[in-house]
Amino acid sequence: MNRKYRKTIIAGNWKMNKTASETVAFANEIKPLLPKTRACEAVLCVPALNITTAQKALKGCRISVGAQTLHYEKSGAFTGEISADMLDDLGVKYVIIGHSERREYYGETDATVNRKVLAALAAGLTPIVCVGESLDQRMLGVEKELLAYQLMTAISGVSAEDMKRIVIAYEPVWAIGTGKTATSEQAQEVCEHIRACIRKKYDARIARGVSILYGGSMNVKNAAELLKMPDIDGGLIGGASLKPADFAQLIEISAQVENE
Ligand code: PEP
Repeated sequence: MNRKYRKTIIAGNWKMNKTASETVAFANEIKPLLPKTRACEAVLCVPALNITTAQKALKGCRISVGAQTLHYEKSGAFTGEISADMLDDLGVKYVIIGHSERREYYGETDATVNRKVLAALAAGLTPIVCVGESLDQRMLGVEKELLAYQLMTAISGVSAEDMKRIVIAYEPVWAIGTGKTATSEQAQEVCEHIRACIRKKYDARIARGVSILYGGSMNVKNAAELLKMPDIDGGLIGGASLKPADFAQLIEISAQVENE
């Protein structure tokens, strides 16, 4: 991480987990465990149905509540969907876009990810754009080309000014929910490559200001090593974000790494 130029972000992705009452119980449990001073930008992306509950329950404890997806249209006949304006109206800032589970199970493509990114930016939201290769793609050694393509498509049509508001999450698909983490060197190599792609499209100033997170079985045991890498500015965390003690510790670890 490089605190001078960019934000450190510890973002949890709860996926389809926790009822409203479990959300309140989580908030009550984590509150006393959080560092007293602001450690990093902490975000919990909860199921859309529980955003308001989470906001109320986490009030005053410096964890902002984010969303896990949105629809790219402003409004209309899209049963079950949520618009960027709806999230903005609730006071949501961060929204995950293009998570590999959305790509795999709900047919999201690089092109729809791009439309969602543009819709989020237009509503004033901060997209956390997920990119990542499958195991097959890594075995074939094409991950860098693939990631450059995913990234460039996702941010197609994004101005330099708006790029400053985007967060990228590098999430190797083979490491999500599998317990297999990329080594810190593997993750650093890719995050550095992502930053180089941003530099090529915009310039060095924009690239050095973009927070790039690592996601894929990050936990309290491996977080410090990953976060010490110069191009890894935080984590997008699934499983470990569901446990109050672990999520609080991840926030604490990021503060410790920053202060080293
Ligand atoms: C994720 O859902 O983005 C993720 C990284 O999950 P996990 O930490 O459980 O691998």
